[in-house]
Amino acid sequence: MATGTSPAGGGMALHTKMLIGFLVGAVAGGIAYEFGHVVGADGLKQTLPWLQVVLTWITQPVGTIFLHLLFMLVLPLVFSALVLGVVEIGDPKALGRVGGRTLAFILTVSGIAVMIGLVAVNVFQPGAGIDPAVGQALMAESATQAAGIVERGEAASAMQVLLSIVPRNPLAAGVENNLIGVMFFALLFGIAAASLKTEGVRTFVGTLQGVYDITLKLINAVIRIAPYAVAALLFTLIASRGFSALVPLAKFVAVAVGALAVHLFVVFPLLLWFIGRMNPLEFFRRAQPAMLTAFSTSSSSATLPTTLRVAEESLGTPKRIGRFVCTLGATANMNGTALFEGVVVLFLAQFFGVELSLGQQVLVLLMCILGGIGAAGVPGGSLPVIASILVMFGIPPEGIALILGVDRFIDMCRTTVNVTGDLVGTVLISRGEPPDPLEGARQ
Ligand code: ASP
Repeated sequence: MATGTSPAGGGMALHTKMLIGFLVGAVAGGIAYEFGHVVGADGLKQTLPWLQVVLTWITQPVGTIFLHLLFMLVLPLVFSALVLGVVEIGDPKALGRVGGRTLAFILTVSGIAVMIGLVAVNVFQPGAGIDPAVGQALMAESATQAAGIVERGEAASAMQVLLSIVPRNPLAAGVENNLIGVMFFALLFGIAAASLKTEGVRTFVGTLQGVYDITLKLINAVIRIAPYAVAALLFTLIASRGFSALVPLAKFVAVAVGALAVHLFVVFPLLLWFIGRMNPLEFFRRAQPAMLTAFSTSSSSATLPTTLRVAEESLGTPKRIGRFVCTLGATANMNGTALFEGVVVLFLAQFFGVELSLGQQVLVLLMCILGGIGAAGVPGGSLPVIASILVMFGIPPEGIALILGVDRFIDMCRTTVNVTGDLVGTVLISRGEPPDPLEGARQ
C-alpha cells in the first residue's frame, strides 16, 4: 500500500505524468499566448484564428469533460464516504473525538492562515501603493461581474448560510450543489446507521461500500486522463489570458501568493513533522496528484475524488479518517481561502482608505475563519463571501472588481492550499487513532 505513486497505466508514476502535463500545458500556453495574439487597430489584443480553433475545439473541451467527469462523482462520493466514515468510526465516543479534532484543526489552522495573511498585508501594504487612476480603470473593467458577485454576497447572509446547512430536501441540496447540506444529511444518516445493528442496516452499509468502491474505481479511470486534462486546462487559461493582468496588481498578487506559500511550505511541514510525525517531503510527494488537480481546476469539490484517492491509497492513514476529514474538509476546511479573504479585506480597506482598528482586524480574522467554512469549493467560491465581509466593515464591496482580473491565478494557488490542508488534517487527526479494523479484509 502507501506507495502513493502507483502507475495509473503505463510505466510512469501518476504524479510524474501529472507534473509533465502541468509543465507542458503551462509552457505551451505561454508560447501560444505570445504567438497567438496580435494588437488590433483599436489597440486591443486579438486572438488569431489558429489559437481560437485550438482553444475551442481541443483544449477547452478536454478540460471541461475532465471537470464534468470529476463533478459527476462528487455526490455519490460525498454521501457514501461520509456515511461509511461515520459508521466505521463507530462508537459515539470515537466519533466525538475525531469530530472534535477535525473541528479544532479547521479552526486553529485556518486561524493561523488568516493571521499570516493579515500580517503580510499590514507589513507590505499592497493596497496603499496603487495608483487611484489605475485602480478606477481596473474596477470599471470588471464592474458588471462584480455587481453580480456583490448581489450573491448580499443574498448569502450569515443566517442564510446557516439555514442551508440543514436542507429541507436532501435531494434538492444535491441538485443545487449545496454540499454542506448533503454532508449534514450524510452525517446524521451515518450516526443513526452506526447506532443500529439490524440486518437491514448491515445490508445498506454493505451496499454503500459497493457504491464507494465503484466510485473509486471510476476515479481511478478518470485520473488516467488527468495529466492530459491538466495540460489542457493550464493551456486554455494561460494561452487566452497570459500574465498581463497580473502586472498592475503585482504587489497584491505577490503578498497573497507569498502568504499562501508560507502556509503551504512552512506551517504545513511544521505540523506534519511535529504533530503528524510524517516527513513533509514524503507527504508532498504522495499528495502531489491532489495538489496538481487542485491547482488546475481551482475547485476543492472537483478535486475531492482525487483527494480521497490520495488519502485512501497513498497516505497510509486509516481509511475511515481520510473519508471523514477530506469529505468534510472539501467545503468546510479551506485554509487558503480563509487567508485570501483576510488579505482582500485588508487590501481593499487600504485602497479605499478605510481605517481598521486592531479590534476590527480581530473581527475580520473571525469572519474569515467562518468564511473559509462557508465558501463553496468551486472556482471563485469565496468571492460572494468576501463581498459580504466587506459590507460588514464599511468597505465598498464593488471594490472586489479590482482583483477579479488576477483572481483566477490566486484561486489556483489557494485551492491547492485548501486541498493540501485536508490531507494534512487527515495525517494529524489520524495520529493515535487505531488502524482500520477492516484493513486487509478489503482487496
Ligand atoms: N476555489 C476555492 C476552492 O474550491 C474556493 C475559493 O476560495 O474561491 O477551494
